[in-house]
Amino acid sequence: DSTSAPNFIRNQVREEVEAGKVDTIVTRFPPEPNGFLHIGHAKSICLNFGLAEQFGGDCHLRFDDTNPSKEEQAYIDAIKEDVSWLGYQWAGGVRFASDYFDQLYEWAQYLVREGKAYVDDLSPDEIREYRGTLTEAGRPSPYRDRSPEENLDLLERMRAGEFAEGEKVLRAKIDMASPNINMRDPILYRIRHARHHQTGDKWKIYPSYDFTHGQSDAIEGVTHSICTLEFEDHRPLYEWFLDNLPVPCKPRQIEFARLNLNYTLTSKRKLKLLVDEGIVDGWDDPRMPTISGMRRRGYTPASIRKFCEMIGVTRADGGLVDIAMLYHAIRADLEDNAPRAMCVLKPLKVVLTNVPEDHDEVFEVPGHPARDDMGTRKLPFTREIWIDRDDFMEEPPKKFFRLAPGKEVRLRNAYVIRCDDVIKNDAGEVTELRCSVDFDTLGKNPEGRKVKGVIHWVSVAQGVPVEVRLYDNLFQVESPDKDKDTDFLEHLSAESLITLQGIAEPSLAGVKPESRFQFERVGYFCADRHACREDHLVFNRTVGLKDTWAK
Ligand code: ATP
Ligand code: MG
Ligand code: MG
Repeated sequence: DSTSAPNFIRNQVREEVEAGKVDTIVTRFPPEPNGFLHIGHAKSICLNFGLAEQFGGDCHLRFDDTNPSKEEQAYIDAIKEDVSWLGYQWAGGVRFASDYFDQLYEWAQYLVREGKAYVDDLSPDEIREYRGTLTEAGRPSPYRDRSPEENLDLLERMRAGEFAEGEKVLRAKIDMASPNINMRDPILYRIRHARHHQTGDKWKIYPSYDFTHGQSDAIEGVTHSICTLEFEDHRPLYEWFLDNLPVPCKPRQIEFARLNLNYTLTSKRKLKLLVDEGIVDGWDDPRMPTISGMRRRGYTPASIRKFCEMIGVTRADGGLVDIAMLYHAIRADLEDNAPRAMCVLKPLKVVLTNVPEDHDEVFEVPGHPARDDMGTRKLPFTREIWIDRDDFMEEPPKKFFRLAPGKEVRLRNAYVIRCDDVIKNDAGEVTELRCSVDFDTLGKNPEGRKVKGVIHWVSVAQGVPVEVRLYDNLFQVESPDKDKDTDFLEHLSAESLITLQGIAEPSLAGVKPESRFQFERVGYFCADRHACREDHLVFNRTVGLKDTWAK
């Protein structure tokens, strides 16, 4: 496939499988339930679930839920829904790192008994200071040489809730002079008197991400623990835990470059700010790069999977992927699979003066030009029709092939009409056109002249009103968050949402939420999941018709 890019992890796994080095691969997708998933997570989902699918293995869905104060059940539910919607099934039930808290605690005691972990009374600030910097070695904590007995007792009392938050931590005893700061006695447990969404009030201490992640992988028999490049420096620690604990197996960590998309934020924390500040209509606002936002916008699961295939998987970081590639992926899918319809976004009334009031002609036209399986739709042709204001100009430039005074244009799927009269109100605005139909032009050119333009139209008597939401990029600059932390709020586009009241052909009456269409000559649209009702149709623009992606 010319549009699929290299994927070094897939190549590596294929070699291992072919060489018989691995029997059944096990991967996992490990979100922290502190926000909704975004397009960056889709890359990781497609990679992890895709490998399991391709090589007949398993992929687990595991919530990395070690930070109870930022996590919520609502996020867990949304994440499950997004992964399923993308078309993936996790092996076994949903898993939680918190399922392993008892085991992790036993392993912490094990390290203490082995003299490889200690309870430290330094404050968080002191720990940071003692840890040193890239150019300066760390210093040992004065509590580093406590006896295993004392440490076991203190750890147990930390767990029982005897100490205040920040008063003590459990640290691994590794190497305060290591050039890798992650190895300078990393924190294993912190005191947090917080209620956990899975374990309730059972725990007063919570394991750190580093102490949790690799061991959870090992408990689950994960073979390939795939993560983004910022964890490369954590790999020695990941391996240190596996080497120093009686774990059932040794997963391997492999890093890849995260996805960065231009005009887009891919950070849950920043997306959450947009939600909390009311800048967008929730996590699934159709402008959000969240999976649920893209779903509401009209993306298909296939298009997101296709996009992830197109961007490939490498270790080279830094590049910004062009969002035009994402638009290309959805446009290609909808071009082939979305039925056609006509919808006028900015209605201008046209009276066809030589069509009688009681004219009841109906054109039956294809649902899709290349898909007989989509059947046909009926277009009633009446004396009064709507056309789009943008398809008429009173004083047109030379190359304007749509409607103008005295000029002809073809109504899509119907006749050629000529504009005879322009009606205006007192303010001089055009309110109506009077046109005449050439009835000898159905499916053929008019006698002796060429009519180049084709415009869409809808019957006034039978068209249905629709609210149309035109969405565009939320940000007007390519890298909205490249500078300071909250600067991205200054780069919001004022035109990311324009709402219009349009009129659609009657075949759209009663469409189901999430139905997708190409509005001919206009773009691809999707009936809004939440707002679209039978008596109030609401369509979101997914993407325009013009492809700007250059390979
Ligand atoms: P964020 O910075 O948005 O909060 P995160 O990495 O903290 O993202 P997690 O819930 O920990 O969010 O992510 C789950 C998985 O998705 C991780 O394995 C992570 O590496 C991966 N992931 C997150 N963002 C991206 C991205 N932009 N590109 C590729 N993978 C990503
Ligand atoms: Mg994370
Ligand atoms: Mg994060």
